[in-house]
Amino acid sequence: MLAQRAARHPQVTRVLISLLLAILVAGILSGWQALLRAEQHQSKARLQLETDAIAQQLQTRFELQAQALQRLGKRWPSHYDKALAWQQDVQALLDGFDNFQAIEWLDSQYRMRWIEPLAGNEEAVDFVYTAAHPNYPILLQARDTQTPLLSNSFELLQGGRGLAYYIPLYRRANDPTSFDGLLLGIFRVEVLLGTLLREERNYQLSIDFHEQDQLLFSHKTADTLDQGWTVSSPVQLGRNTGFYITAMPTSSLLASSTTHLPLLILISGLLAAVSLCYALWLALLSAQRLEALGASNRKLQQEIVRRQSTEESLQRNQAQLKLVLDMTNYSHDALFIIGMNPQELVYLNRTCWKSLGYSEEELRQIIAIAPADIMPDVLAWSSELRELAERGGNSIYQQHVTTRHGKSIPLEISVQHLNRYGRAYLICVGRNNSEQLEVAARLQQLSQQDGLTGLYNRRYFDEALNREWRRLRRQSGPLGLLMLDVDHFKAFNDSLGHQAGDDALKQLANAMRGTLLREGEAVCRYGGEEFAIILPGADIAQCAEVARHLHAAVKELKIPHPSSQQQWLTVSIGAASLPATEQGRPESLISLADKALYTAKATGRNRSVMSSDDERPD
Ligand code: GH3
Ligand code: MG
Ligand code: MG
Repeated sequence: MLAQRAARHPQVTRVLISLLLAILVAGILSGWQALLRAEQHQSKARLQLETDAIAQQLQTRFELQAQALQRLGKRWPSHYDKALAWQQDVQALLDGFDNFQAIEWLDSQYRMRWIEPLAGNEEAVDFVYTAAHPNYPILLQARDTQTPLLSNSFELLQGGRGLAYYIPLYRRANDPTSFDGLLLGIFRVEVLLGTLLREERNYQLSIDFHEQDQLLFSHKTADTLDQGWTVSSPVQLGRNTGFYITAMPTSSLLASSTTHLPLLILISGLLAAVSLCYALWLALLSAQRLEALGASNRKLQQEIVRRQSTEESLQRNQAQLKLVLDMTNYSHDALFIIGMNPQELVYLNRTCWKSLGYSEEELRQIIAIAPADIMPDVLAWSSELRELAERGGNSIYQQHVTTRHGKSIPLEISVQHLNRYGRAYLICVGRNNSEQLEVAARLQQLSQQDGLTGLYNRRYFDEALNREWRRLRRQSGPLGLLMLDVDHFKAFNDSLGHQAGDDALKQLANAMRGTLLREGEAVCRYGGEEFAIILPGADIAQCAEVARHLHAAVKELKIPHPSSQQQWLTVSIGAASLPATEQGRPESLISLADKALYTAKATGRNRSVMSSDDERPD
């Protein structure tokens, strides 16, 4: 949750991490400073302890010597008259302590009497303390208080600084009245301190020995730190409290008393802070990556779901398609799909190849190599299909296909244009329509046929005459027409009955039909007992020839006609022939033939009259 928020606001998080790093670094630095201060404090305390110990040693050393001197003073009752014994004792004391300049006896008049060692102290022989001497009051005080006293420092005659220790002497122990002067021990300050400070452990300190504000002795060590590190300790020698020592450490001493802990803590703290912030930064990066990964996963998931649903729908569609294709295989209609650009057969159902007597592979192969073997008119149809694919919509075509056994099957093909996935397709459903064609042909025939005679009827005549006229007009050929009327047929009916009349008409029709040889020639029942014969391309001479044959054929029938002069049924024929022209009309041809027929009737019947050129209309 936190990581997601951080990942969504990387800038803010980066600022927060930087802030945290700054706070941590500041905290670590101040901690480091505090540790340094604590360590410095510790070092100073340790230095103070060291200095106090030195002061204490100094006091102890002095005390030892003072006590030795005092013990010597206590033995004065046995010494005052035995100078040699005293000298021996003093010598023993001098051997024990090297810092005595001299040990002397002052008599009760404060005159220097005995001096040990004499060598180097000759100048002190017979020296008398007078009231002018700075130590004179101390002498008096020591005598009066019966207490050993130490003087302040003074310049020794031999050079250097010295201290005088005065011990009152008595010839009888514990008898102040037997005062016999003073035992005087002269200490050399340099030796007293030098001996002490020569000890090894003090090498790392610089020590100054002061009396009040006067520096009496200085022991300097190289590498001394004097800035802020000076400590002091008071030194009491005897009853004299005017001394103190100051000490300064060397940097190596300080180094030995300090540890690397603060530095280690500083470095490790900084490392830890940097590591923590780096880890947080990495965590931020990781959270950002996780967020991006999550987003891409969600997208992927959506894509997977979408693909799954597409896949399912595809599978459903495929199943449906398979079902549909299966069903189309059982259809009586031939179903095939043509893909355009390039033109290829995409699908054909079982009926296509089964009805033609091939296997699917065979049929596909023939279509690929020699499609005309299957569909003779395939080339023309292909171009028609291309037009349809371009204009769209649908169309119905009548084609013929040839089976493996050579049988031609009429096929009505309904073609629907479709565009799918950027390509044009033609869905073709072909149906064997031979029966419909036959019915249509039959109906056509019936609509053109005369019911009684089986000849073409008047409607057909009109259409055929006009059609032939148009056709011959293009060829600039003549069109011949014969109009035929049965002679005295009313009388025939009247005498033989209407049924006989019908039979006679049928016989005449057959005879006329049998007379015609050329294609396109048609015998039509014009009405009642009148007939019209169309002779395309026939000039008037050829019309006359046909008329002759007709007369001969009728004659041959020998249909008895009781009321006829010839006793047989006869016919009259009027014939005309006109070149089919743009200006001319087929009605003119009828009119001419009709006139000729009229003439044939008028001139005796049972004859043919050819329409002459004179009678032609303009
Ligand atoms: P013409 O020589 O002048 O032609 O004399 P016609 O008697 O043939 O002339 P008309 O035109 O006056 O008579 C035609 C007759 O044909 C009248 C009619 O009874 C007869 N007829 C017309 N159609 C049929 C038919 O379908 N069956 C029968 N039996 N007779 C028909
Ligand atoms: Mg008639
Ligand atoms: Mg007639």
